[in-house]
Amino acid sequence: MGLADYGSKRDFARTPEPQPRPASSATGNLFVVHKHAARSLHYDLRLEMGGVLKSWAVPKGPSLDPTQKRLAVQVEDHPLDYADFEGTIPEGQYGGGTVMVWDRGQWFPETDAAPPPPPPGEPTELLTAAERALQAGRLRFRLEGEKLRGGWALVRLRDRPGEQAGKNWLLIKERDEAAAGGSAAEITARAPNSVKTGRSLAEIADGAPASPGETHAGEAHAGETHAGETQAREMHTSERHAGEEERARRER
Ligand code: MN
Repeated sequence: MGLADYGSKRDFARTPEPQPRPASSATGNLFVVHKHAARSLHYDLRLEMGGVLKSWAVPKGPSLDPTQKRLAVQVEDHPLDYADFEGTIPEGQYGGGTVMVWDRGQWFPETDAAPPPPPPGEPTELLTAAERALQAGRLRFRLEGEKLRGGWALVRLRDRPGEQAGKNWLLIKERDEAAAGGSAAEITARAPNSVKTGRSLAEIADGAPASPGETHAGEAHAGETHAGETQAREMHTSERHAGEEERARRER
């Protein structure tokens, strides 16, 4: 797909989002999930692959419950620089609304079987096993993030008439020790805040706009420490809430 779509949808004089520029992270397997309050709230799963972030918009967000298959609509590739983007896209611009770094870490393709052969005409040597799995419509992978961990799968749905070809996928948690059921599976509710800055969407929306050239030295480290603490606090709080709801239900 490349970054042409990304560039053509945005006016970089107006949006604080990063310019399209192919690049690689130090490890080459970064993943990020953005929480994006655009016209409707959704989560954007992004996997680094071939110098870009392959991206899916997940309206309901990921679930840790393997029976909860979540629609994931593939959107345009994003530049690697986008992984760290947190801020507000102005109203009227493409994707206008607040963007949060909801989770991030590394992803690992799980290629236990031989990857499917490349489609006719595709240069074999340029396609990694993961890219081929993606082309074949079934990618299994492991996430090592702060919130999302363990095995996951992206499975492409068959096209229905009137739908854009090949855009609709399902994001599915695999059964392992990182899976969960019931309210524990709703990780988006249990841990709603940024892993980069610990902020809520409202706090990001209220924050001062990022000033170009401002130094962010130390921010990542401080943010990570804070995020861990925030997540622990959020999870504790939501567990307590879940307990209260359960009690209330029994008493009714
Ligand atoms: Mn989005």
